[in-house]
Amino acid sequence: MSSQSSIPWYDDFVGVAYRYYDLRMNVVPLFTDRKEAASLWHNTIHPWVDPSIKIRFLETDEKYWFIMGSDSQKPDTNLSFFKELPKSENYERFKKGHDGEAYLRLGVYAKKSLDDVKKDAICDCSHEAQDHDEGDGDVCLFNKCDCKKFSSFQVNLLKKKKIITDIKFLEEKDVKDDPLVWNCINVNKFSK
Ligand SMILES: [Zn+2]
Ligand SMILES: [Zn+2]
Repeated sequence: MSSQSSIPWYDDFVGVAYRYYDLRMNVVPLFTDRKEAASLWHNTIHPWVDPSIKIRFLETDEKYWFIMGSDSQKPDTNLSFFKELPKSENYERFKKGHDGEAYLRLGVYAKKSLDDVKKDAICDCSHEAQDHDEGDGDVCLFNKCDCKKFSSFQVNLLKKKKIITDIKFLEEKDVKDDPLVWNCINVNKFSK
């Protein structure tokens, strides 16, 4: 029915977050620009038919490919999404805990500097903002920590959501059996 091969691939997003929220796990492709995320939702994801949304995770050693696509009520603006990402704790938690269902929402990812946060905000080095010295290039003063500059990020979830019920974790040997993944790998893996 759908001609998957003619749908353009899109990878211009920064990553994917996995969050427990509203009783279900959420899969959250992350953008740095709120307007871009909102227009992508409006033009591409909103016209998706929920039961036809597919999310695939193709695992390769320490990394995985996030692959997502769907039939659309507006085929002209349809896109399929992919991103090669390092496996993370949150990814593993999602893999174990999703139970066959998830919400899809988009998120806006904002980097925070020491000036933007409260004293108890946590740095990527795991220590609080107040452990970083504003007078000395934001270095972490915690014993033995080699963090040179406070940095953390915040994810704001956009409200709109879709329910995904077609979620699969695949290995490389399974690629040929899944048209969406097969197309993604053929188009994107060897082109970079
Ligand atoms: Zn730090
Ligand atoms: Zn530190």
